[in-house]
Amino acid sequence: MRILFCISLLIANSCFSQTDKYILLKGHRVFDGENMHSNWSVLVKNNKIEQVGIIQNIPANTETINLPGTTLMPGMIEGHSHLFLHPYDETSWNDQVLKESRAERTARAVNHAKVTLLAGFTTVRDLGTEGALFDDAGLKKTIEKGVIPGPRMIIATKAIVAKGSYGPRSESPDVELTQGAAEVTGIEDIASEVRTQIGKGADVIKIYADYRWGQNGEAMPTFSEEALAMAVATAKSGGRQVVVHSSTPDGMRRSILAGVSTIEHGDEGTAEIFRLMKERKVALCPTLAAGDAILQYRGWKKGVDPEPASIVTKKKSFQMALQAGVTICMGGDVGVFSHGDNAREMEMMVEYGMKPLEVLRSATSVNADVFGYGNKFVRIKTGLLADIIAVQGNPVEDIKLVRKVAFVMKDGKVYKRE
Ligand SMILES: [Zn+2]
Repeated sequence: MRILFCISLLIANSCFSQTDKYILLKGHRVFDGENMHSNWSVLVKNNKIEQVGIIQNIPANTETINLPGTTLMPGMIEGHSHLFLHPYDETSWNDQVLKESRAERTARAVNHAKVTLLAGFTTVRDLGTEGALFDDAGLKKTIEKGVIPGPRMIIATKAIVAKGSYGPRSESPDVELTQGAAEVTGIEDIASEVRTQIGKGADVIKIYADYRWGQNGEAMPTFSEEALAMAVATAKSGGRQVVVHSSTPDGMRRSILAGVSTIEHGDEGTAEIFRLMKERKVALCPTLAAGDAILQYRGWKKGVDPEPASIVTKKKSFQMALQAGVTICMGGDVGVFSHGDNAREMEMMVEYGMKPLEVLRSATSVNADVFGYGNKFVRIKTGLLADIIAVQGNPVEDIKLVRKVAFVMKDGKVYKRE
């Protein structure tokens, strides 16, 4: 237990702790969020990183944790999760939203939070509860209080969709079904919903800038550029970013011009759209693993059957984004596939043409910077919060090694040690 001594109330700032806790982490190398360094170690003081490099002055009461053969690196950020969803081959999205009780969904989310943390993801950007209302705000608080183990959560609460565009859909026009997100009509009421979600705890505003509401079920834009810009201006004045689900060139263009921070999916992006993203500093969170998983649920045998058209398109557009120099976030839309299997997206980023070192940066410093937390955590740097993991071997040589998590520390507390 830490005991605080105060010299007097008059000089309350002179409070000091007699029992600062020091932990020295010794692995084989350190990936600091940007580059790999051999023979570095990390000294943690309470919940912060005190020193990194070749450490000279080690305080007397330091506990040393030896992690031979490992790479110490920042706890990773899952850039696109849904802790309140579970794989669609277990239960369809519609049935999760309509038939599972909120208690069940929360119970599942508690399990998902734990496996995510133990898989080395110390932060998630959770982009919508999909029908579980504002329960992400409660889950986040419960983790912060230390009641259950889980990652830091950057939450979107309900997310925002255009009225009539989202789901679940009823076969009968007379039956009103619970929706997976908050419906608005456009510029008239989008700001109001942004304010409501901020008031309920949203750290980020998620908007579906297009959705499958075309006459033949094809994706089409849902909001005008003006409505999106109104949402961005409202969110920005409260210090929040707007992120959009968008896969059509039109939806993406409107979102970029409206000033959003990230585009999720971006499947049908063109060279021109990616140039515009680069120019306006909008990052892409490609969610490669989600589309891949859904196709496999529908019967595609990966590696055996030929690649479906949507996979061919996805690979092509992802490579165009890389060529255009668009900032790439790491986020798989996990929830569509199993929580704890977050590394699947990182493996696919390499499979689709990114270098492993770039993928590691995406999952750490890039995600932290793009989401606005770069000066707080997810770099191994003096003064930042101690969210540190160790993986076996060198993941730059083989990205799959990010699955071999030997150690997890979040906020200076050890959650896993093998
Ligand atoms: Zn999603």
